[in-house]
Amino acid sequence: MTEMRDVLRARQVLAGYLPETPMWSYPVLNAVVGAEVHVKHENVQPTGAFKVRGGITLLAGMAGRDRGVVAYSTGNHAQSVAYAARVFGAPCSIVMPENPNPAKVAAVEALGASVVVAGATMVEAGEHARALAGREGRRLVTPADDPEIIAGVGTLYYEMVTRQPDLDAVIVPVGSGTGAAAACVVTQALAPQCRVIAVQSAQAPAAHDSWRLGELVRRPMKTTVDGLATGSAFALPQGIMRDGLSDFVLVSDDDCRAAQRVLARDAHTLAEGAGAAALAVLLARPAEFAGKKVAIVCSGGNAGPAELAQLA
Ligand SMILES: *Cc1c(COP(=O)(O)O)cnc(C)c1O
Repeated sequence: MTEMRDVLRARQVLAGYLPETPMWSYPVLNAVVGAEVHVKHENVQPTGAFKVRGGITLLAGMAGRDRGVVAYSTGNHAQSVAYAARVFGAPCSIVMPENPNPAKVAAVEALGASVVVAGATMVEAGEHARALAGREGRRLVTPADDPEIIAGVGTLYYEMVTRQPDLDAVIVPVGSGTGAAAACVVTQALAPQCRVIAVQSAQAPAAHDSWRLGELVRRPMKTTVDGLATGSAFALPQGIMRDGLSDFVLVSDDDCRAAQRVLARDAHTLAEGAGAAALAVLLARPAEFAGKKVAIVCSGGNAGPAELAQLA
């Protein structure tokens, strides 16, 4: 289980690699929402998403790093691990399922990692990644079941609650749950009055349903919001979220698209769909948050060409 002291250790490690990200409140956005909203800007990370905090933390303390790492992902987890591997000079392979998006391949290759295309689905790509790691004596970096990742991601919430100690709530977009679990660890230690509310797409509710049922379940994954697209739940973050979350809500993909437009218009911020999911909750439930002080995590800004065209 990840604890506050692990987050504090990660903070010391990350200080050498990543500056704190800004958190701003925008009067026009506050007026639209009817609450005091603080936007935590992870879209300005060098990889365009918060996950790099976890990747650097994990590799910084990793034994046998020189033999290399393997991950499977098409998105922000891939970039996080590739970025961290480049920082520490570790060989890195990223396994992606067949017919990967060329822009995502290019992003990972630009960070110096090699892309291995294998498997028809992400589950099969994961099996290839595990076999590759075993064959070459490299570490497989899972998306969510490594405690160092949650400790690293926790530094985001440390920055948030030290800047605004009297928040009523923080809303966190969830795919695997590392961000929401980290928010639980930090608020329990430093801001117990702050409710942690998780949000997932109704078109891929595996983490939501697992939290409600109290057991790990698989669900169909039909969302077009990349950062929230997982079909199964992860034991480590679910275990932390079980008692730590105040609520877990669902929004639609269309709600996320609408919230992306509001962020662009009222907070001059380019968010990917997942990065706007927390605002989508505020827009969907104005009565619940009226007059409250709420932080939302703009978790990433990696909107691809098709997503940008749709927004315009
Ligand atoms: C990965 C990701 C999420 C979900 O985070 P988890 O830790 O997997 O729950 C949300 N937004 C963006 C932009 C992401 O890349």
